[in-house]
Amino acid sequence: MSSSPNEEAARAELHRAVVAAFCKVMNESGLPPMTVMSLAAAVVGSVYREVADQHRTGGCTCGWQPSPEADVEILQAALARATEAVPFADLRVVQVVGHA
Ligand SMILES: [Zn+2]
Repeated sequence: MSSSPNEEAARAELHRAVVAAFCKVMNESGLPPMTVMSLAAAVVGSVYREVADQHRTGGCTCGWQPSPEADVEILQAALARATEAVPFADLRVVQVVGHA
């Protein structure tokens, strides 16, 4: 997978935000990791829904036209791909979560 420097910076920022939220929820809720993971995945889906709705109702004029079926396939593929290979820089974060 190739990505532009902009995409890599965006990925790193989102990663930091999601790991921070994940750790906070894990510590405060006592819920099992997979429950929290599933909630996080569901939140991505609901964010998609909100952004897509905004674009269908003219709330944004950037020109993006949501196509839920194809878009969900893209999101599912991204989720599957990301679980296969953990970038070296992320291993540290995973260990921190494991000890939390
Ligand atoms: Zn837009």
